[in-house]
Amino acid sequence: MQILVIEDEPKVGRAVQEGLRAEGYEVTLASTGEEGFFLASSRVFDLIVLDVMLPGRDGLEVLAALRRQRKTTPVLLLTARDAVEDRVAGLDAGADDYLVKPFAFPELSARIRALLRRGKPEPATSLKIGGLEIDSGNRAVMREGTRLELTAREFELLEFLARNQGRVVSREMLAREVWKEPGRATPLDNVIDVHVARLRKKLDDPFDAKLLHTVRGVGFILSEETP
Ligand code: CA
Repeated sequence: MQILVIEDEPKVGRAVQEGLRAEGYEVTLASTGEEGFFLASSRVFDLIVLDVMLPGRDGLEVLAALRRQRKTTPVLLLTARDAVEDRVAGLDAGADDYLVKPFAFPELSARIRALLRRGKPEPATSLKIGGLEIDSGNRAVMREGTRLELTAREFELLEFLARNQGRVVSREMLAREVWKEPGRATPLDNVIDVHVARLRKKLDDPFDAKLLHTVRGVGFILSEETP
């Protein structure tokens, strides 16, 4: 995640930069409106923290110019206390949120997280079968309220079976779609069988109802009913 901080007060700028870097963000610091505008219009950032009170080109001018360029990068404004008109003007100019100075770093960090989440909505892909729920966005699997700890491959295997629930999936299909190996080979069949067995152990062994069935000579099926 790339964040641009446009702030002329060196102490504030450095504190924000260090704090955000410690949280794993890549941070670029600009100390004037001109420099900030140049960076924001020539590079791609996930978010901009923009001080309103800047010498020369101020934060609101920078913001308005960016929005005129149809830059939709989320902008968090830093405004002075009591400057209500700044906040109103800022939101009118296209700011996504604002924070009043002086602020506590955890609050800045929380606002940034919220804006980044808003910018990138999780795809709402949840697959359900019986008491099983597969959340593709978070790669999480729950069965009857219990979280199943799957490896990446087991997850992909289960997700593919769930997308085809009620239909028999052959080993050729699994080789092609999950292992991305178009040519079927006997060693891969064994690998697939081992993964299916491990998945079944986690998915079905602790529960009475079985969902993952083997169709002899054909492949596998994820279904509430025994085929
Ligand atoms: Ca300032």
